[in-house]
Amino acid sequence: MKQPFAKTTCPYCGVGCGVVAPRGAARGARISGDISHPVNAGRLCSKGSLLGETTGLEGRLLHPMKKGARVGWDEALDEIAAKFTDIVDAHGPDAVAFYVSGQLLTEDYYVANKLMKGFIGSGNIDTNSRLCMSSAVAAHKRAFGEDVVPGCYEDFEEADLIVLVGSNTAWCHPILYQRLLAAKTKRNARLVVIDPRRTATCDDADLHLPIAPGTDLALFNALFCELAARGVTDPDYVANHTEGLDEALSAAREGHGSISAAAEACGLDARDMETFIRWFAETERTVTAFSQGVNQSKTGVDQVNAIVNCHLLTGRIGRPGMGPFSITGQPNAMGGREVGGLANQLAAHLDFSEEGCATLSRFWQTDRVATSPGLKAVDLFDAVATGRVKALWIMATNPVVSLPNAEFVRRALRTCDFVVLSDCIANTDTAACADILLPAAAWGEKDGTVTNSERRISRQRAFMAPPGEAKPDWWIVGEVARRMGFADTFPYRGPADIFREHARLSGFENDGARCFDISALAHLSDAEYEALAPVQWPVDTRGGTSRLFGNGLFPTPSGRARFVASVPPVPAKRHGAFPLVLNSGRLRDQWHTMARTGLSPTLASNAPEPAAEIHEADARAAGIEDGGFMRIVTAYGSGIFRTSVTAAQQRGSLFVPIHWSSATSAMSGAGRMVHPETDPVSGQPAFKHTPARAEPVMPHWRAFFLSRHEITSPSCGYWVVRRLEGGWLYELAGLTTADAPPDIDTLVQLPDAEVERVEMRDTARGVLRQARVRDGCLADCLMLTRTGELPSRDWLVGLLALEALDENVRGALLTGHPVEGEGGEGRIVCACMGIRSGAILAAIADGECDVASIGACTGAGTNCGSCRSEIRGLIERTRTEEAA
Ligand code: SF4
Repeated sequence: MKQPFAKTTCPYCGVGCGVVAPRGAARGARISGDISHPVNAGRLCSKGSLLGETTGLEGRLLHPMKKGARVGWDEALDEIAAKFTDIVDAHGPDAVAFYVSGQLLTEDYYVANKLMKGFIGSGNIDTNSRLCMSSAVAAHKRAFGEDVVPGCYEDFEEADLIVLVGSNTAWCHPILYQRLLAAKTKRNARLVVIDPRRTATCDDADLHLPIAPGTDLALFNALFCELAARGVTDPDYVANHTEGLDEALSAAREGHGSISAAAEACGLDARDMETFIRWFAETERTVTAFSQGVNQSKTGVDQVNAIVNCHLLTGRIGRPGMGPFSITGQPNAMGGREVGGLANQLAAHLDFSEEGCATLSRFWQTDRVATSPGLKAVDLFDAVATGRVKALWIMATNPVVSLPNAEFVRRALRTCDFVVLSDCIANTDTAACADILLPAAAWGEKDGTVTNSERRISRQRAFMAPPGEAKPDWWIVGEVARRMGFADTFPYRGPADIFREHARLSGFENDGARCFDISALAHLSDAEYEALAPVQWPVDTRGGTSRLFGNGLFPTPSGRARFVASVPPVPAKRHGAFPLVLNSGRLRDQWHTMARTGLSPTLASNAPEPAAEIHEADARAAGIEDGGFMRIVTAYGSGIFRTSVTAAQQRGSLFVPIHWSSATSAMSGAGRMVHPETDPVSGQPAFKHTPARAEPVMPHWRAFFLSRHEITSPSCGYWVVRRLEGGWLYELAGLTTADAPPDIDTLVQLPDAEVERVEMRDTARGVLRQARVRDGCLADCLMLTRTGELPSRDWLVGLLALEALDENVRGALLTGHPVEGEGGEGRIVCACMGIRSGAILAAIADGECDVASIGACTGAGTNCGSCRSEIRGLIERTRTEEAA
């Protein structure tokens, strides 16, 4: 009998926290942390805590659609199978492709990969994990012979030195960060953060190295050389378990002179660099964890190998509290790697070698296994644009927003003969380019497994029925496979069948050659699969494995780990037209293109608009004002953003969030500006380093529109929308004289007979305040100004909750000033506990003077802790204002 609660796994980041959700409850029911899950022991970050707010049906794709019209499943599946078959017959298997996602469950991934690589016969299946950690995958294979993360999360708790490189762990992997912080305090461990930006993670660091963008390789090669020069090596380990040290060291030495020269190359203070080297040298238990800041670079693979080199040289790998550690971004990036979701891998960690292809052929009983790697993401969309790829099936991802040179991707899809999208959301940028849309079951509606950053396989369990005609991805792909003539080899009744096959393949002709082996799980019954507890691969009859390589044996032909030689590239000269470097990344409370987190009013409140960060000197030089607007221009496109002038950003660099799309903004998508340059080995795009310039934008008017009705894209140069409790808030600005200021009736038409109007129009000052009241409640309001300030959004948003507007409030709508004592409580600072800035400022005014006491008094910052840096900022700002 099924329990009233389902234990499942958070669908966001690669930490892989366990959650508990009520079965059969109404959508929107509260979801909590699973205290029995070894990753999070019941804790969740803001995104996980607010999962319940994102499980509604708003925006869901409920039925198969063809060119905008509803069709039946049979018609859609028949057409997909026929089109793919016809194109393969006419042009060969490489004329079709799948582009999939780290959001898929392992079982979905397995079936998609099997169809493409095993039966269509092409390597052309790639995944959005290419954008996230493919450089780490390539580096693992070069160093270890296989894509293996050697360590586990306990290592962060058992280390005496934790080095975080290119990772804003406090925001992007909050629960892992809280684990390491708790242990840091207990063990008195040191934390070093290497990041060009001063992120929230730096607040807890003992040392922040604000490295110049793109110089990580120089830094770690310098560390490697200095460790060798100072004799901080493990000669026995190097002699018995590694190869290639001399070549790697001599390559590293080519670019390394003195510490001061290396520090200068990295834009660092030489004393800080010496401190880092000294701490690394003297600390046996050192974990070096890295994320997108390392991976998303043209030298991403070399950078990861440079980190690994330092750990191999010192023998610090495979033992408690030490090792290189790749923190993955997506919930199932690792699961995708297990089944060959990347175009250059086969399933079960098999390579495209003659032997690997033959093994897979025997297992799948097919003579059509692809014999060479397929196209990696950026190349794949180039091939779509040139017509080499004529049919593309995209699953659970939004490449028109997330890929670099995103407008090129949009155009490529529009020229493609046949585009299929399976997704749970109806109106994404990519959906607008698809011929057929297939409604996929969403998180909470489907069953399967995911694997987190520490190789831990956890179950995702359904606790809601799929709405409309939505189906799980494995079912959709299997149905197309059957219709393409492969019915015998896609006989799955459910995800348990697929998991058993996946597990069997991992042990097939393995004999210990591949670390990825979960064949001990190949005989799980359906009930055992349903009850499967989180377990780390490899799995044998005794259970899972926390750490690998502790015995010094590696899955290379020689059994030794490999040092990899690399020379830092000559730094590129800044281009005159693009003197800045554009970096991009995540915000604390949002996920990817906000298709889900954007549904949560609480999550949307903390960063309501996309703000581009710029250093004060660069802003001043360009005439850009804090809080105003700026245009960022690159060789590939441009975007408009609010400006945040901040000392967190170093001179010469810009930062923009990745979350906004055409569905939520006019021109604030990051991907449209990012260059399509990639690492030559991994094919991972260099999202962190696009040459750019910034220009001020002086709007002719600014406005916001608060409404209970969602509207289609407003017609002005700048708009951004965010979800509220009971409505939407649109920020609007006219950027050219062609952008006519809106009137409330042009935004939404409401029957005159049903509404009462409140309006103040001051043409001379360029002020317009309009509101409509229906049934005594605020229906909507438009606040517009040409030169002045706009009223408080928080106050007006609060009016949506009122059941009746009295005369005072109506008068306040005209003046734009709240009734005394009703100024709103500010924006959300602590999303987990729902604490707004007003409550925190009140606590500061009452004398609370540090983060802990504010937490004790308000609750803010007491759950996942990722808002603590913001609370600290409010305290500091208040102190500065008081002192002025
Ligand atoms: Fe989800 Fe947050 Fe845990 Fe990541 S850290 S898995 S987003 S709850």
